[in-house]
Amino acid sequence: VRTLAELVRFPSVSAQPAHRQDVGACAAWLVRHLARIGLVRARLVPTPTGGPPVVIADGPRGADAPRVLLYGHYDVQPADPRDGWSDPPFAAVIRGDELRGRGASDDKGQLFAHLAAIESWLATEGRLPVNLRCVFEGEEEIGSPGLLALLRTNPDLFAAEAAIISDMPMVGPDRPALTYAVRGLVGAEVTISRATGELHAGLHGGAVADPVLAACRMAAALRDPDGRITLPEFYARVKAVGPAERAALAQVARLGGGPGSGDDGAGEPSFTALERTTIRPALTITGIAGGSVGADGKAAIARAATLRFDLRLVPDQEPRTIMRSLARHCAAFATPGLRVRFVPGAAAAPLVLSREGAALAAAGRAYTRAFGRAPLWRRSSGTVPVAAALHDRGVTPVLAGFALPDDHIHGPDERLHLPTFFRAIETSLALWEELGAGHAATWQAPPPAEARP
Ligand SMILES: [Zn+2]
Repeated sequence: VRTLAELVRFPSVSAQPAHRQDVGACAAWLVRHLARIGLVRARLVPTPTGGPPVVIADGPRGADAPRVLLYGHYDVQPADPRDGWSDPPFAAVIRGDELRGRGASDDKGQLFAHLAAIESWLATEGRLPVNLRCVFEGEEEIGSPGLLALLRTNPDLFAAEAAIISDMPMVGPDRPALTYAVRGLVGAEVTISRATGELHAGLHGGAVADPVLAACRMAAALRDPDGRITLPEFYARVKAVGPAERAALAQVARLGGGPGSGDDGAGEPSFTALERTTIRPALTITGIAGGSVGADGKAAIARAATLRFDLRLVPDQEPRTIMRSLARHCAAFATPGLRVRFVPGAAAAPLVLSREGAALAAAGRAYTRAFGRAPLWRRSSGTVPVAAALHDRGVTPVLAGFALPDDHIHGPDERLHLPTFFRAIETSLALWEELGAGHAATWQAPPPAEARP
């Protein structure tokens, strides 16, 4: 835990250029740690996009053992102490049975549970039951651009039968879970600006176009009062989910795996809160800016207004089609007096995995050994771009997280529940053994139950 706290103390915020050095220092720390626990060829691999490097290290080679990637990310979301943190976000202090700090759960704690187990294997057995390659990226919180580019330019780095991805919650402290679906993502930022700049609201109000009002209308027109997204054809490819799977989701929600306090009844009324955040797509305006307020307020028609969109997609929606449709919606708000600039952001395809195959079965047995209980199957509301990208290249993603629903990830007072962390280490100890027990030749996963685009 002391060593993990060292890792959490790096403010490795990938979204903020001011933290660029901290991100680099965190990567360098990981390389040293990986070498120290006995992994070989621990190194920094630059990405084609010039962002933070990918940390790669290998286990000792064993003939006849499956090749397994261990994926994690060492970057974190921004953390502003003024957002209501009880302790400084990068102090990594222990409160009761929790380690507090940005990244303690997402994803440094989950990543480190595996490293503790690997260290133990190497110290006691001098080997690992699989041919392991660690791949830790520093840009997950900004959409993984560098890692995804590296996957395209250097696919051999990622050649493996399976990839262990521990960057998601379980259902509860005693309820381990395997994740079999993640939502896709379309992000974009659009700026509406006046061709002739700011104007006096009294002299010109009523005669000229108002970018803030146009931005409000642009946003408001995207959702009807029932929470349905109004982009044309938006639901055309959304797959219906059958009653058996909906019943299983209801069971997960009853056990605490739903959005919990994040449910205030908004959204499509014919779906439960967990369904609205997993099997249904969503649109969020994550930011809006324009004009002036408070002490800086001016009686002026603003020069510009900006909106930031976040859409989550489900099978079989296609990010490219949705991005185009969103861009068309925004462009329609251009007038002789208003320019619209649409900047596409991150895009990722939704993914539904087969719930069969040797790698997932091995993970299921590992959870059962550590928690005394078989894992539940859950769908994630979030997006893991690397999972779909690896899946496309024939690597079976195993989405086996250790976070808890109330770890406050991305929020103030993020915490890692230490008793769960210790069981995560036990799970990882068993996982490598279970993965190695199956023969590589039997690893070809069957095609997904639900085909993806
Ligand atoms: Zn994460």
